[in-house]
Amino acid sequence: MLVYILTLFPDAIEPYISKGVLRVARDQGKIDVRLLNFRDFAKGKHRNVDDRPFGGGPGMLLCPEPIFEAIEWIESREGIFHKVLLTPDGHTFRQSHAESLTKHDRLLFLCGRYEGFDQRILDGFAWERLSIGDYVLSGGELPALVILEATVRLIPGVLGDEESPISESFTSELLDYPQYTRPREFRGSSVPDVLMSGDHEAIRRWREDQARHKTKKWRPDIALRGDTNKCDTNKSGIKKRDPDL
Ligand code: SAM
Repeated sequence: MLVYILTLFPDAIEPYISKGVLRVARDQGKIDVRLLNFRDFAKGKHRNVDDRPFGGGPGMLLCPEPIFEAIEWIESREGIFHKVLLTPDGHTFRQSHAESLTKHDRLLFLCGRYEGFDQRILDGFAWERLSIGDYVLSGGELPALVILEATVRLIPGVLGDEESPISESFTSELLDYPQYTRPREFRGSSVPDVLMSGDHEAIRRWREDQARHKTKKWRPDIALRGDTNKCDTNKSGIKKRDPDL
């Protein structure tokens, strides 16, 4: 997957993509992430990318010209990209968006700054408009990284254990079940006996019960959401959403 991130702050993104799962995916040749500062496409001595809004109002808006030119420059070399616009008024990003983003060979993220975008940037391309939540950050860099990481860890083979993304929270209609590692006893709290029993069917049932209980307690809204309705059963026996839905 070829990924372009258009940003005024490539230096803020580079350290994060050089670590963890994004670095692993890059080393495996599964992703090629390129950072492009659209200021490089701005004209004039000061290479301004923003200006005051017509009609008045606070702050500065990103001008269309450098962003159009940056996207046209990329697409003339690499072909058409699936384009993601980071914006607080977009659809709230969910696991189902990450699943569908893995289907694209070329992804482009546009990170806003200041008061956001001149409307012609929104109108000029076929964007998938995504928000990472109902709050306002100062830029699209963190949202781009959030979405990229959630997507890349779903590319087959990126995580060592093929099963691990399947049984995680939000991949099914249930949150993840509680898990334990060593030591077996810790400050008076012990690992549930069933997990030490070696009875795989009993463990599967215990995990499903726990996941149901946890989901009902912490996120009763999840089961009611439209995008988690149609499920299939995965190898661990816990229901998995059909990624085509
Ligand atoms: N004036 C805009 C509004 O009220 O919707 C907010 C602009 S915000 C200060 C600057 C940029 O940060 C946005 O253009 C967007 O790229 C990014 N951003 C801020 N919050 C975000 C969120 N929750 N999800 C995605 N992007 C966000």
